[in-house]
Amino acid sequence: MGLAISREFFSMPDVRRPQPPPLTGGDALLALAKAESIDQYRRAVELSSPNRMARDTLKYAPTVHTVSKKISAASSPWPNGQIVWLQPECDNGLPHTRPPNLICLSTKIADSSLESILLHERVHVSQRLHAPSWAKIFRDYWSMTQWDGSVPGDILLRKRLNPDTILVPYFIWKKEWVPLGIFKSLTMPDIHDIDIVWWNTTSRTLHRQPPPDWEDFFGKIHSGHEHPYELSAYLIQNGDDSIKAYKAIKEEIDKLPSYEL
Ligand SMILES: [Zn+2]
Repeated sequence: MGLAISREFFSMPDVRRPQPPPLTGGDALLALAKAESIDQYRRAVELSSPNRMARDTLKYAPTVHTVSKKISAASSPWPNGQIVWLQPECDNGLPHTRPPNLICLSTKIADSSLESILLHERVHVSQRLHAPSWAKIFRDYWSMTQWDGSVPGDILLRKRLNPDTILVPYFIWKKEWVPLGIFKSLTMPDIHDIDIVWWNTTSRTLHRQPPPDWEDFFGKIHSGHEHPYELSAYLIQNGDDSIKAYKAIKEEIDKLPSYEL
């Protein structure tokens, strides 16, 4: 006679979409050091005066203690990512990702917003792991392609560095407009206080007003409009069907690869 054991006792973790335990302390430090060797984000911040001033840079460090906040598993097609718990004021408390799949969260994040923030950051992890698929979506549905040109030095100086986009800094819309997020103030830069501007690559001029049809397609301007990685993460986080740019990519998102290994 065999023992009748329900199959659910044997439920195994999905090895294709691993959900590793969150990192703190020394393990987190190691993971962040590896990330830095790939993206050099912290180095770029130190080298940029407004970006350094806008952050309390000494506080970029993980927590030493474990954090009891519950991290739920991602729903497909989003990768779970590797959570790293950071000290409360780290990068002024802004959640962000680092390579290859780290989701860096401040311990001061409110429990009520954790789910929504996790979804946003998991979109960024998917962009890191499946960059060609995202590039195709942006090209085919948003008329946006990566731009390898450069903006003048005085504009570059004001650019707010974003770890989520630092490895692919510019995209061009309709072969002409490059959106950017720049600090409003150079003397008292605030990480939350930026202007979205558009560099016109034909006339080589900077515009504060969005290009024709931009708002009609992408919705009302907010800080996410600096880059398609941010735009898509916010649109997916908000799930607002009335935004044309979201409707245009909704079905393609469901087809994204979800085998992370
Ligand atoms: Zn983001």
